[in-house]
Amino acid sequence: MKIFISADMEGISGVTHRDQIVPGTGEYDRGRKLLTRDVNAAIKGALEAGVDEILVNDSHGSMRNILIEELHPAARLITGFPKPLLMMEGIDESFAGAVFIGYHAMAGAYGTLSHTISGATFASVRINDKAYGETGLNAAVAGHFGIPLIAVSGDDCLKGEVLRDFPEAVYSEVKKAHGTMAVNCLSPAAAEELIAGNVAKAVSNISDYRPFVIEGPLQVDLVLKSNAIADAVTLIPGVRRVSPAEVAYQAADIVDAMRTITAMMCASCILAMDLYK
Ligand SMILES: [Zn+2]
Repeated sequence: MKIFISADMEGISGVTHRDQIVPGTGEYDRGRKLLTRDVNAAIKGALEAGVDEILVNDSHGSMRNILIEELHPAARLITGFPKPLLMMEGIDESFAGAVFIGYHAMAGAYGTLSHTISGATFASVRINDKAYGETGLNAAVAGHFGIPLIAVSGDDCLKGEVLRDFPEAVYSEVKKAHGTMAVNCLSPAAAEELIAGNVAKAVSNISDYRPFVIEGPLQVDLVLKSNAIADAVTLIPGVRRVSPAEVAYQAADIVDAMRTITAMMCASCILAMDLYK
């Protein structure tokens, strides 16, 4: 049995500030260690429940955060950016389930460092008139390949978002948000025990899960963080301007929709370069 793990960073136990998740900042090395520990806990739980193949996709920022030197030897790692399926790169029909580690609440919601895909780019992401965060979007990508979301870890705010669409997913609440940049945390050791136990439980009941599918064609409505970003992303064929900071497009399916969202994120990164200042 194969399990896919998508690992983000804002929902990792102990993480509360951007200095723990952005390369070059003071506490980034600690954040990477905490991330690798939570990922290893999920791997350990999956192995205990009989999984024999695990693929981890580093899904945060540069996507080069997980310390491969400390990765559990039973897993393989996809590291680096850009990549076609972004946070779900590597998923295909051969997996039995998807696990999201270190995830966070959607843009505009309460929760630790909440955002959707890129905090600098998107103020909201709506598909067929419903707002989604990264959990829903990435679970739909897994669902496109027939793979169910079985377990998630993050803070108490994300828990509500997960329960809305995935009541059967086993949730590991590793911290409670006391604001965007303040949390009440479990110790890393306690978080690891929780994650390992919950992932093992989810894998043991894997036949109970169904893939989450958003049927196409999809209407995608986005609010950007600035008019300049809207200027840039409207250059992508098929994307039309709705208002100064809003754009919309139609996509054949969720993979198609996410590819355009990823291209928009890349376009908005170019605006941040000195060349355009
Ligand atoms: Zn994220």
